[in-house]
Amino acid sequence: MPQRIKRPTCPSCGWDGREPGEHDDWFRYLEDETRERRLELGEGGEFEVADEGELLLVDEGSRRLRCGNCLLEFRLPAGLEGLG
Ligand SMILES: [Zn+2]
Repeated sequence: MPQRIKRPTCPSCGWDGREPGEHDDWFRYLEDETRERRLELGEGGEFEVADEGELLLVDEGSRRLRCGNCLLEFRLPAGLEGLG
């Protein structure tokens, strides 16, 4: 069930997504991940990073919104902290 939250407003430029922004048409929800991938020895003797990996960690403290107008990244507004 979707959560009802207030429309976000950028704390820097005041954009709220009602009009298309300079860089995007809406806010983006960002979070940092740590992923583990195997270092493999290739046929030529050089090491390669494997294509597939395993997600080890999502840094919950890194969750934030990015403004589609000025690209500022800022803390999640109230009501969004528990999502994701
Ligand atoms: Zn902005």
